[in-house]
Amino acid sequence: MHSFKSLFPTAAAGGAGGYDTLVVGAGFAGSVIAERLASEAGQRVLVVDKRRHVGGNAHDRYDEQGLLIHPYGPRIFHTNSAEVFNYLSRFTEWRPYQHRVLASVDGQLLPMPINLDTVNRLYGLQLTSFEVNDFFARAAEKVDSVRTSEDVVVSRVGRDLYEKFFRGYTRKQWGLDPSELDASVTARVPTRTSRDDRYFTDTYQAMPLHGYTRMFERMLAHPNIHVMLGTDYRDIVHVLPWKHMVYTGAIDSFFDPRHGRLPYRSLHFEHVTVQPPAGQSTVQPVGTVNHPNDHLYTRATEFKHLTGQRHEATSLVYEYPHSQGDPYYPVPRPENSALYRRYESDAEELSDVTFIGRLASYEYYNMDQVVAQALSTFKRLVHP
Ligand SMILES: Cc1cc2nc3c(=O)[nH]c(=O)nc-3n(C[C@H](O)[C@H](O)[C@H](O)COP(=O)(O)OP(=O)(O)OC[C@H]3O[C@@H](n4cnc5c(N)ncnc54)[C@H](O)[C@@H]3O)c2cc1C
Repeated sequence: MHSFKSLFPTAAAGGAGGYDTLVVGAGFAGSVIAERLASEAGQRVLVVDKRRHVGGNAHDRYDEQGLLIHPYGPRIFHTNSAEVFNYLSRFTEWRPYQHRVLASVDGQLLPMPINLDTVNRLYGLQLTSFEVNDFFARAAEKVDSVRTSEDVVVSRVGRDLYEKFFRGYTRKQWGLDPSELDASVTARVPTRTSRDDRYFTDTYQAMPLHGYTRMFERMLAHPNIHVMLGTDYRDIVHVLPWKHMVYTGAIDSFFDPRHGRLPYRSLHFEHVTVQPPAGQSTVQPVGTVNHPNDHLYTRATEFKHLTGQRHEATSLVYEYPHSQGDPYYPVPRPENSALYRRYESDAEELSDVTFIGRLASYEYYNMDQVVAQALSTFKRLVHP
């Protein structure tokens, strides 16, 4: 086992003119902790990102036609945490937005998550909320122990809804059958007996009024924060002096994957800008349309629904899951969790490096969870 000093023998001296903290990654995890350390603890902070922009995967930008798009796929902000929402509100105003998703199934566009209207329209029924409960109970299959993503859904709503809404989508998304994936993947999608067609039900649902990137720029605008973009931290880690590192990249890469690569699912994005038909400002009825059973892409998202932007054209992104490419989704399987734990215990031995964020935690975290993790890590770092 390497000690911290043998990993970074020259840089960790800190010293006059050096940085108190080197933050690797300018996404939510890195930007929040950098802002806190600079404004609350008076630290000198260097933020390094290998990409040429701030915001990490939540970065947004205007395309050639002036439409605000999310190059790494749609990001919808939602949280139940007043602390997280109030914290981010220091750096942005908000546009209230409740996301809605329709699934293209059997020639219809039906509400997702499955709700009363989904069932009635799919099967041509007129059930009430009470009756649809019985419907689900009759359709549900008995599963003794719910272990996989398939178990979760068939034990809740039965095989037909599972096959129409979940199986194909999950196979495309993960390149694995739901029977091979942890229960956690589909457990995150609820089933409703009401007509509530909002994708999320959190207390706070809103989009940064001027976009995510503007919010990150304001967060990082502190005079004690220096931001270095287009730079892999390995290129400067032995050159610039610093005392503590907060690392938000992939944990296996940090350790030159000494125990082997942690598997990630990636995505390729196809961005398309079109002219809506006369009299329409958008081409989809809602922000996202899922395609569980047709096409190679999983879903199409039209940004104007999310951003509220007025523009004569409209821009959509189609998501094609891939095994190769940037690491986006940790693959939730027991053997991967076991491999992660080996890296986690290596990380625990490094007293001068703190690992936070979605990739360093090898965990599917939403943006608000990453902000909450960064805020609580900050408190722990300054008041151990
Ligand atoms: C397709 C997709 C859709 C999503 N949709 C939503 C959503 O709708 N709502 C929601 O709440 N969450 C969503 N999320 C999750 C959300 O994007 C993440 O929780 C959040 O962006 C993670 O922030 P982070 O700072 O942990 O990581 P990142 O944003 O990935 O930031 C890590 C940064 O570290 C940098 N880095 C890595 N290695 C190095 C290195 N060696 N040197 C320098 N820099 C390095 C990377 O370039 C990157 O910018 C989605 C995620 C994906 C993949």
